[in-house]
Amino acid sequence: MSGIFIERDWYESTNRICRRCRSPVWKSDNPKYSFQCLECDEDLFEFETDEQCPDYSPKVIIARYVGGITLNVGLEYVLDDDKNELVFNGQPEAETFLLSMGVASEDLEFMYFIETEHMEGVEDDGE
Ligand SMILES: [Zn+2]
Repeated sequence: MSGIFIERDWYESTNRICRRCRSPVWKSDNPKYSFQCLECDEDLFEFETDEQCPDYSPKVIIARYVGGITLNVGLEYVLDDDKNELVFNGQPEAETFLLSMGVASEDLEFMYFIETEHMEGVEDDGE
């Protein structure tokens, strides 16, 4: 699954974008609305969104809960030799990498593919 963390909550990708600013939208925290746009800082109804372009493949980093336990413990990230988060051009590329490193395909569901464009504090790879 790809998505983002806001505070400690996981927001899975919705495949919808904001009609106004074209940014990906996330599930709303307000039950009256379907989605929220972080760029516009607004909750949105479904008709205020459009479908995401099917070949959209945001850059992701890979994380999982330390020890696989989700109770208030930290996330650990897949790092490169310099201890920076490895950035992949989309979830498929990240999954291929994990499989090539010997991760079992059934373990991929415990991995979080975090979309870096919408996350503060994570460096892009400078492109
Ligand atoms: Zn927006």
